[in-house]
Amino acid sequence: MSQIPRAYEPGRIEKKWYKLWLEQGYFTPQIDPSKKPFVIIMPPPNVTGELHLGHALTATLEDIMVRWHRMKGEPTLWLPGTDHAGIATQVVVEQQLAKQGQTKDEIGREKFTKLTWQWADKSRKDIRHQHQLLGASCDWTRERFTLDEGPSEAVRTAFVRLYNKGLIYRGERMINWCPRCQTALSDLEVEHKDIVGHLYYVRYPLTENEGFVTVATTRPETFLGDTAVAVNPEDERYKNIIGRSVTLPIIDKEIPVIADDAVDTSFGTGALKITPAHDPTDFEVAQRHNLPLVNIMNPDASMNENAGPYQGLERFACRDKIVADLKDRNLLEKIEPYFHSVGHCGRCQTMIEPEVSLQWFVQTQPLAKPAIEAVKDGKINIIPERFTKTYFDWMENIRDWCISRQLWWGHRIPVWYCQECDKLTVSVDEPSACTHCSSKQIIQDPDVLDTWFSSALWTHSTLGWPEDTDDLRYFYPTSVMETGYDIIFFWVARMIMMGLEDTDEIPFHTVYLHGLIRDESGEKMSKLRGNVINPAEAISKYGVDALRFAITTGTSPGNDINLGKGKLESSRNFVNKLWNATRFILRSLDAEAPKGQAVDERPQKIEDQWIHSQLNQLIKNVTELMEEFQFGEAEQQIYDFVWSKLCDWYIEIAKIRLRSQLTPSPLPLLVDTLEKSLRLLHPFMPFITEELWQSLKQRLPDEDQMPASIVLAPYPLADDKAIAPEAERVMDSVIEIVRSIRNIRAQYKVKPDKWIEAQVYTGELLSSLSTQANIIETLAKVRPLKMLGRQEREPDKDKVLVLVLKEAEVVLPLAGMIDRLAEEQRLLKESEETKARIAQLDARLKDNAFLNKAPPQVIDKEKQKLAMLEDKLKRLHQELSQLSSSSADS
Ligand SMILES: [Zn+2]
Ligand SMILES: [Zn+2]
Repeated sequence: MSQIPRAYEPGRIEKKWYKLWLEQGYFTPQIDPSKKPFVIIMPPPNVTGELHLGHALTATLEDIMVRWHRMKGEPTLWLPGTDHAGIATQVVVEQQLAKQGQTKDEIGREKFTKLTWQWADKSRKDIRHQHQLLGASCDWTRERFTLDEGPSEAVRTAFVRLYNKGLIYRGERMINWCPRCQTALSDLEVEHKDIVGHLYYVRYPLTENEGFVTVATTRPETFLGDTAVAVNPEDERYKNIIGRSVTLPIIDKEIPVIADDAVDTSFGTGALKITPAHDPTDFEVAQRHNLPLVNIMNPDASMNENAGPYQGLERFACRDKIVADLKDRNLLEKIEPYFHSVGHCGRCQTMIEPEVSLQWFVQTQPLAKPAIEAVKDGKINIIPERFTKTYFDWMENIRDWCISRQLWWGHRIPVWYCQECDKLTVSVDEPSACTHCSSKQIIQDPDVLDTWFSSALWTHSTLGWPEDTDDLRYFYPTSVMETGYDIIFFWVARMIMMGLEDTDEIPFHTVYLHGLIRDESGEKMSKLRGNVINPAEAISKYGVDALRFAITTGTSPGNDINLGKGKLESSRNFVNKLWNATRFILRSLDAEAPKGQAVDERPQKIEDQWIHSQLNQLIKNVTELMEEFQFGEAEQQIYDFVWSKLCDWYIEIAKIRLRSQLTPSPLPLLVDTLEKSLRLLHPFMPFITEELWQSLKQRLPDEDQMPASIVLAPYPLADDKAIAPEAERVMDSVIEIVRSIRNIRAQYKVKPDKWIEAQVYTGELLSSLSTQANIIETLAKVRPLKMLGRQEREPDKDKVLVLVLKEAEVVLPLAGMIDRLAEEQRLLKESEETKARIAQLDARLKDNAFLNKAPPQVIDKEKQKLAMLEDKLKRLHQELSQLSSSSADS
């Protein structure tokens, strides 16, 4: 039989298995109406470049869920895909053009779109490759791109349906305008930054009388677009001028003074300039008072013909000139520094202009209602639960969604304007004529849809909607939507709204939100800080399994994760530990028998019962944790079991029996424990577990009946009958005895190969501990070892060291090598620690919250623990008093 190599080489093994899994079609589920499927639709990465660590986290968490459900025998679909990412991708391609000294307008829409497709195709290929590197077990036969024909038809269909229901409209509304990208942006695409600006106090002369009204503004240049001054009707200062008018300086335009309750009398002078075309609040005031809108800017934020003498000036140059001109005319009362928050384009960081513009909107309130209900009713669960409140807050205050973008990259708006009758034709398929007057003079809207419009349909468009496909019928609603908490509004909320709207069903039952990956000191990773870990580099250095393990172990939903070199290294150490343990077991198997033997259902030896019990308890815990989406904790527990219980203890104990060829051989159980551990670990570390499992399988008696790959092997089920509390108690004691003797040996620098004498005094465990004497002897290097009942212990005449343990006492003769003072301090420290633990437990057992919540067996266990600790404390005190009396003797 083939030997496994001395060292683990991740790269070679990863490639080999992924290729085989793909060839065998393990990731493509069969539709089986008798079984309930498990479905995750992958959040599609943007085709803007390479995957970062956040993507690796998303892919790993989803792969954990998917592999686990597949092993549970459920038809499991993980559908991968990518997002065209409208503005983000367009900006990337524009930047590349700029490097060659070109702009998109110079090369034109057609050529630009072609270039962007080339970029997207390459990027999709890279992303697919990187997901495969990570071991993502997705069904590549069903891969989708948001601009594919299917999802595009879904986009047009959803648009037309909403339009026909009156939920999509075109109107002049306040939007965020990016003068560089020259497109509208939704509120979510705007980043707010706090900046120090100025508050300018500008005097508007009264038209009929002498005097002024002074208004305060951060953007004095917008006075060119003012159509009123508003004051609060209750404001005594301005009562007499309501209904009169003022004259805008320089351009000599007369505008009314109006009264509106919304005016805050404490801001500035209490008189507000109203610029409805360039301020969201002013826009609302204008709607109430029927004021005209005057747009004063071109799309690039230079001033237009409405700006009179300032036409053609760039917005900030215009501001400087206006401030100077107002000063000259003595119309600038004062300038104050002013700290405020200003919106910037999320893609290019240009300061946005709030602007009234003719755009397409989705009326979201009617869509939000059922989406709120679905979460309230518990049809959709959000994990962690605290994000439910965030979801409600946003959904209950939702504003209409501006969906048109003045971009070239994306889904064209399916609306055609008739040149003859001016009416609109809104259609899924390209019309050949106006549906109202049959004119052929129709022109399609040049704009594209917000990229999140197609993402909102992702869960159903990928499965074939609007067609009634087998996939849609079987796999929808999907199971889990796993994504970062930072896009709950951009995406999750909109998917719920659109899923319900289009299909009348929720798109998924569970929303699982993960946190951000930060560096080891908790700082955000950024190129600027130079603390970014590139997943591809980490993979080539540590292997995929180690990376996956490092970013998910010990984490919990919704919480940020700290990652540094240390965690990656310790994950790699774990992989190596597993590799070496398996090598040892395989070598022993080959030496003892060509094929392993069946396992005893009820092992006879205490240490066998113990590991068997621990394994089954682990399986039970892991299953529960997985069901509760606590993958990080499940992984931590498997790690602790494999590293400590299996490798550090059980294998070491088994070696003693193997060396002396004692029967029964520990090998069958060792093999069984390892084999189940590999299956438990497979969803987290797919590659090493497959490699080791395959080697192990060849040596098993029932090889023929086992599946061809661990991917298809069943996830282990716990056997309650295997739980053996008595064996656990004995082995806990054995481990404690060995550990404490080893500590003392280290503390007193006893040479590793030197045998020392020991006596162990036990309580109730005497007979069972005696059967483990051989183990204690070998592992603690003590000989002769005497085991006696605790009551047999006589006050020590010789100089000895006494270790007071939970259930036993270990007495080591020290023959002059002990420092009595140090010994006293050690005992004092130990009794202080025991006291602290007693106090802790005592408080817990007096805590009503705990007593009401905890199951009775847990409370009993705590009480037992307390009794043991109190007994231990008593014995420690005895030792201390003896030590002082014997030192008085000497
Ligand atoms: Zn921009
Ligand atoms: Zn027409």
